[in-house]
Amino acid sequence: MRENILEIISNYNNDKTRLMDILHDIHSIAGYVDQESIELLHQKLRISEAQVNEVISFYHFYNCKPLAKVNIYLNNSITAKMHGREGVLNAFRNECAVEEGGISEDGEFGLFTTSCIGMNDQEPAAIINGSIFTRLTPYRVRELVKDLRNGKDIKELIYEGDGGGRNALPEINSMVCNNIRRRGALLTQDYLPFEITKKLLPVSTPEDIISIVEASKLRGRGGAGFPTGLKWKFGRKAEGVHHVVICNADEGEPGTFKDRILLTEFPELVFEGMIIAGYSIGADIGLLYLRYEYKYLLNFLKGLLDDMRSKNLLGKNISGIADFNFDIRIQLGAGAYVCGEESALIESLEGKRGEPRDKPPFPVERGYLNYPTVVNNVETLASIPKILKNGSDWFLNLGSNDSAGTKILSVSGDCNFPGIYEVEWGTTIKDVLDMCGAYDVQAIQVGGPSGALIGEKDFNRALSYTDLPTGGSMIVFGNKRNILKNVVMNLMEFFIEESCGSCSTCRNMPMVMKKKLEKILGGRGVESDIDDLLSWSEVLKVSRCGLGQTASNPITTSIKNFRHLYENLVQKDIVFDTGFDLEESVKDSCAAVGRQPILHNL
Ligand code: SF4
Repeated sequence: MRENILEIISNYNNDKTRLMDILHDIHSIAGYVDQESIELLHQKLRISEAQVNEVISFYHFYNCKPLAKVNIYLNNSITAKMHGREGVLNAFRNECAVEEGGISEDGEFGLFTTSCIGMNDQEPAAIINGSIFTRLTPYRVRELVKDLRNGKDIKELIYEGDGGGRNALPEINSMVCNNIRRRGALLTQDYLPFEITKKLLPVSTPEDIISIVEASKLRGRGGAGFPTGLKWKFGRKAEGVHHVVICNADEGEPGTFKDRILLTEFPELVFEGMIIAGYSIGADIGLLYLRYEYKYLLNFLKGLLDDMRSKNLLGKNISGIADFNFDIRIQLGAGAYVCGEESALIESLEGKRGEPRDKPPFPVERGYLNYPTVVNNVETLASIPKILKNGSDWFLNLGSNDSAGTKILSVSGDCNFPGIYEVEWGTTIKDVLDMCGAYDVQAIQVGGPSGALIGEKDFNRALSYTDLPTGGSMIVFGNKRNILKNVVMNLMEFFIEESCGSCSTCRNMPMVMKKKLEKILGGRGVESDIDDLLSWSEVLKVSRCGLGQTASNPITTSIKNFRHLYENLVQKDIVFDTGFDLEESVKDSCAAVGRQPILHNL
């Protein structure tokens, strides 16, 4: 084994910034990273054992202890729970003789919980030994486990080709369904791959391209909405030996799965967007950060890049343009929602824990390895070739006055037709509900846990950067759902699990607020507890990154739009109740992120 590990490390030229890849390769041959490997990594990469350990412990899918022969990671998103996760979990427990979070006595099965795996339109879903299993039922679990016990390989158990489209390709071989319900400007099949790279780039200056992107008023589709052309302008102007383009394909917001579709059916559009961005800002390094949960697409995407290299679409003097040298490497993540934040993603790309950086400096000035770096979302980059092909006016004519273009929505929950809907900005929530067949709707989580929980009075609002902005996730909750007990609690648990733990606010406050909510749900709350929740949420605003800054949103937006649900639960005849233990709450929150509580600071 020692020789194998040394070979892996040398395959990456003993480069510590490639630690993520090295750890993935070690897992692929050993299943975990043992102490001897950690020592070798320390010696060869010239980083301390503590640094190696802290990276391993940060990501959900790295381990420093052996796991089972078959490891099941069952998604625990709210949508999974709404569609029968409990029954599926019980079936796995019974069939595998294992408790959640543990390994069976015979070492055959491990059963773990994981945050949203991007399959909200086909839940319950699980990752089993790296393969995705969707639409699980107790019956399917029994069959699966029986076949595994009979020695079948996990790959044989995937419903081959069942997902449709490119999911059926041997390089993907996935039972994941595309569920494209509505196609707009991006998802139509009128795209001629790399036409812009071959024809327009050779006759345009980078400034020409940036001007068209600026004129289109394209804004980042990840949620923040920064003008793309302006970001490219900053990136081009910043000085550095190298310039970098990063495609952020780490969509981890529960309820979103649009990047999965773009990367399965339209990866050429995304890669061409990266090439164009590279040309515009003068980049030579391109990186696509692929979330671990989409590992099943990795070989397919790498194959496309190889093909592009063979056609001079990547490499030196692309399309015959002198000195336009640009290549793309795919970095596989290892499971950490916070890596969707651009500076955390850059840390991860450099082989470190994905902890967000302080800003400024912003990545356009000092990003990956301190080079000027433009980070764009998958959907943003996929929009670029279409804008250049059809012109900025074409794009401006789509959408609303303040928000140009279309938005791809990932719709799931209580609706008849969950899936992908590409709509123009300006479309109302009511229209989306009518499209997806959602009736008797009580609430919708728009934009994932960091977005807003809205009720009927907001259904006539329009999706746009100025009215109801969204990164694209929409989870529908019908009238029978218990919004506070099931929805809000699940979303708060998500933030507690995914905090990187750096800021005391983000480390502690979501857990403290969750405990307060538990007190209210337990019938021990009083009116002032509701106001406490609102005022405590203010503390989170000083957190370093968006995760912490928005971690109270499930509670604050539910109080704003569903205050009656809270008021129905609190005691009316008393003004003070001692049934809340702040110290205990802080201890629990520190345990969740593996840190020591410092109680006297509170
Ligand atoms: Fe980490 Fe939360 Fe602070 Fe962001 S806000 S840096 S996730 S602790």
